[in-house]
Amino acid sequence: MTTQAEIKTKAPMDWVTTIFLLTSPLVGIFGSLYFYLYDTIHLGTWALFVFYFFATGMGITVGYHRLFSHKAYEAKAPIKLLLLLFGAAAFQSTALEWSEDHRIHHRFVDTDKDPYSIKKGFWFAHIGWLFRKRKYVQQGVQDLVNDPLVLWQHNHFYSISIFMCFFLPGLITMFWGSFLEGMFVAGFLRLFVVHQFTFFINSACHVWGERTFSKEQTARDNWIIAFFTFGEGFHNFHHEFQSDYRNGIRWFDYDPSKWMIKGLSYLGLTYNLKKVSEEKILQKTMFLKEKETLHKYANVGEEKLRHWEEQLTNLRESALQEYQKWKQAKQSSNESEVGVLKKNFEQTKASWEKLLGRPLFS
Ligand SMILES: [Zn+2]
Ligand SMILES: [Zn+2]
Repeated sequence: MTTQAEIKTKAPMDWVTTIFLLTSPLVGIFGSLYFYLYDTIHLGTWALFVFYFFATGMGITVGYHRLFSHKAYEAKAPIKLLLLLFGAAAFQSTALEWSEDHRIHHRFVDTDKDPYSIKKGFWFAHIGWLFRKRKYVQQGVQDLVNDPLVLWQHNHFYSISIFMCFFLPGLITMFWGSFLEGMFVAGFLRLFVVHQFTFFINSACHVWGERTFSKEQTARDNWIIAFFTFGEGFHNFHHEFQSDYRNGIRWFDYDPSKWMIKGLSYLGLTYNLKKVSEEKILQKTMFLKEKETLHKYANVGEEKLRHWEEQLTNLRESALQEYQKWKQAKQSSNESEVGVLKKNFEQTKASWEKLLGRPLFS
């Protein structure tokens, strides 16, 4: 139950946002339903819905998140502009305010200072936090304040977002249908879906899934959620290695945001793509696996446990050394030498795995 004192400390309600978030889905659903039942929804309008779904969703993930909040890569001005325009059409505030919140989220994740802390409940992290006013002090975002394009979007946010979100889809569908058809289907209905799917990143991605890369916070990896969040479902990796432009690190991990950034880099439109070293990832995952296994067998006695831990640590360290040798050789040596070094690494890692799976005392 909320106490009187707690009510007083809460920020005042943001009624404009609250009413918009609660009514815009109804406009989208009933407006589209009207066209579906009593008029027609042209195939082109559905195509525009899909295009707008990806363009605005990724305006957030590729733009607001990985480019502006995390600086995980750099982009040429035309790409930045497109990301700011379509990001605005996702109606999630300006890139500047979004990034301020998001940088605080990473810094203070799961604490009271986290603006959308999952500790305050699923609903709060999903949408509830938006119902109250936030104070923006432009701290920790000086790099973005200095960016003329980001500032331009910030200063003209409502005209840009209303035009990009509702008017442009309507103007496009006038080529084959009516203005309202585009506004309801590719505008309001699409916005509802994009809102919910991107909100999942703050809610579902902190509740369901694996914690392979870090157990110190609630963020999780979940490929099903990645499917709905433009690749952001690999959130445990992201929280541990936030400067990496990828969230799903294996080539087949569904991460369209990563593919978009990489694809644009071939055209020279994005550059300086940051990637955490594979060695660092390997080291962290092996270390966590060890901790987890040792914790499971904690009741076998301190001495046996310590001995086992020592052996595991030694093997992990040699595996990492072998890995390093193999990686270095890849750049310079001949293929047969690389093959031998690769085998050495794989064998040492296999020994570590064997030792991990077969406790010394069993
Ligand atoms: Zn992030
Ligand atoms: Zn998070």
